[in-house]
Amino acid sequence: MKFHVLTIFPEFFRGPFEHGVLQRARQAGLVEICIHDLRNWTHDRHRTVDDRPFGGGEGMLLKPEPIFEAVEAIWPIRNAKQRVALLSAQGRKFNQAMAREYSALEELLLICGRYEGVDERVAEHLADDEISIGDYVLSGGELAAAVVVDAVARLGAGVLGNECSAAVESFENGLLDCPQWTRPADFRGWKVPEVLVGGNHEEIRRWRNEAARRKTARLRPDLLERELK
Ligand code: SAM
Repeated sequence: MKFHVLTIFPEFFRGPFEHGVLQRARQAGLVEICIHDLRNWTHDRHRTVDDRPFGGGEGMLLKPEPIFEAVEAIWPIRNAKQRVALLSAQGRKFNQAMAREYSALEELLLICGRYEGVDERVAEHLADDEISIGDYVLSGGELAAAVVVDAVARLGAGVLGNECSAAVESFENGLLDCPQWTRPADFRGWKVPEVLVGGNHEEIRRWRNEAARRKTARLRPDLLERELK
């Protein structure tokens, strides 16, 4: 899958995609990530990307022209296997189901806002989706874009190596993943649940299901309520 990220801070992405699963997927040619500097689509000496909001108010907004020009240059014609998403605190909350939906695309283009945000015409007339990674305000869309790329890319065919590993993770079946332990079996007197060292696979499977349900009820009861609706 191919990702495009449109940003005024291309250097920001030097680190996040250069480790672990994502780095291996890029090296294997399973994932391609193109970082585009928004200022390349400005036409003045100062490479201006922002302006004051109409009606007054604090701060500056990203102007529509460079953003529209950039997207139209990256994809002169758009198709159904491509999607443009604007990162925004006002957007629909990004979740695992959306990550799965995006992972079926061929290309995803993420627009990173900055300052006080982005001219609303980008959300209304250019982006297919406006997405938020949570109910808090970040200084820019770059961290959010990195989160989205990571969550989507790891679901791509062949990226995790073992296709089953994503299917048993948190949120995939409406529950959190079950708690897990590794060696030593006794660490400072805190022992691993006995069933997990007993070797009875059916018992372990049932125990894990129950443990996942208990942990979900304790930490994310909203997921269970959603399941009952
Ligand atoms: N004035 C905006 C508001 O209150 O909704 C916040 C603008 S924020 C300081 C600047 C940029 O950071 C946004 O345009 C967006 O791209 C990004 N951003 C901030 N919070 C975000 C979130 N929760 N999810 C995704 N992007 C976010």
